[in-house]
Amino acid sequence: MAEDINKLLERLNFLEEESTRVVSSNMGCNNSQGFEAWAVGKIKLEEKVNRDAMYRVFKSLWFTKEEVNFIALKDVILVKFGNMEDRKRILNLSPCLFDQCLFAMLPYVKDQDTDAYAFNLTPFWLRIFNIPLEYMDRQVAMDVGKAIEELVAIDWRDRDGGWTEYIRLKVMIDVSKPLRRVVHLVSSDGAEIVCAIKYERLPTFCYICGLISHSTQKCDRKKEQSKSNDTSFQYGNWLRAQIGVPNQNRVYWRNGIEVITDKKNMDSDPNGEKQGNEEVNESTGPKGKEKKSKTMRKNRNHVLLQWKNVLQR
Ligand SMILES: [Zn+2]
Repeated sequence: MAEDINKLLERLNFLEEESTRVVSSNMGCNNSQGFEAWAVGKIKLEEKVNRDAMYRVFKSLWFTKEEVNFIALKDVILVKFGNMEDRKRILNLSPCLFDQCLFAMLPYVKDQDTDAYAFNLTPFWLRIFNIPLEYMDRQVAMDVGKAIEELVAIDWRDRDGGWTEYIRLKVMIDVSKPLRRVVHLVSSDGAEIVCAIKYERLPTFCYICGLISHSTQKCDRKKEQSKSNDTSFQYGNWLRAQIGVPNQNRVYWRNGIEVITDKKNMDSDPNGEKQGNEEVNESTGPKGKEKKSKTMRKNRNHVLLQWKNVLQR
């Protein structure tokens, strides 16, 4: 549509009146109502979701200082927060769920095509079980987080040895892949430990293939699964961490959160030119594929950087 109009405009000869320049006092000035506070969201469920109900629920749940407005675009939803603080607070609460469905949100980027947003990357709080007490330290937390995808924050809860049952990490998850269930940790004496992962606030996901894009009922592999005699699923409710334990001191928890920052990444401007921060060396594959992979990697890094800037306190 926009392209059609631009093509049309290119061949028109404008009259004198039409050529008069309009200078808006609003353009280019940094007002707090501007796009800097916006976000872009996408519903990550193939099944139908009542968008109007979702907007109502979010508006009532978020307690934003200023009104938030939702505008449905082609396949994404523009979320117009009234100020940066509101957006930062809500993005920090990620994952954002409505009726057990993931609404993936990212900071709005000026002039960026909606296809270029990496909605597959969403931060989740994970609990890693089975780590022997003597290995529960910062380095293991960093290694495990990075092995899963990208570590965003560590919840220390208690630096004086509060980790007992599990370690709690905020990790950027690629939701286009099946949910990761374990991490194989190798101790210094070479012994292998299988650490189980549980996710906090996990949306609806498929127990057959582990994807959060659809429910088990709607899975393409459902027939295949029911034909086989194997009635056990590879994924299940056990991947959900039980939250809301009585006496849980949330204020105390929050004080123990350390946001993991990468100095090299944090120095560059997310809206600037220095988007990519990692050179990709790929010697194999056709050039087109290599270029696409490079672009994807660049996009991924850019999204991680955006998230880290938003989540940093
Ligand atoms: Zn499935």
